Amino acid sequence: MSDCIFCRIVSGEIPAREAGRSDEALAFHDLNPQAPVHVLVIPRDHFDGANDVGAADSGRIWPALLNLATTVARELGLADAGYRLVVNSGMDGGQSVGHLHLHLLGGRRLTWPPG
Ligand code: AMP
Repeated sequence: MSDCIFCRIVSGEIPAREAGRSDEALAFHDLNPQAPVHVLVIPRDHFDGANDVGAADSGRIWPALLNLATTVARELGLADAGYRLVVNSGMDGGQSVGHLHLHLLGGRRLTWPPG
């Protein structure tokens, strides 16, 4: 989608600080980090959000996002101390960008419950 900012990152039209990649997914550092490590993991294909990954794609997309997120977490040295993976979905979930993404947060003790 040409008007989607994350699609434009996938195509290279908009720069991002890459943290990892796979055939299906891309990981890059968040512009406005909420923790010492804050990486976004997105599918290369466009899905508006979590609700838009249908049965035909779910077996491909969710494992790809989780595999890349855990790989990046290991590579960035978060595996032992721990980290959090978050998918904000829709208005109540606090989603602000309409391209499915998973947040990888770590590098400090995170509080619970989230706000
Ligand atoms: P969400 O609020 O869950 O939709 O998360 C969207 C995230 O995308 C926010 O944490 C933003 O800081 C981040 N973001 C928006 N534009 C960019 C960009 N061009 N590069 C990196 N991160 C971005």
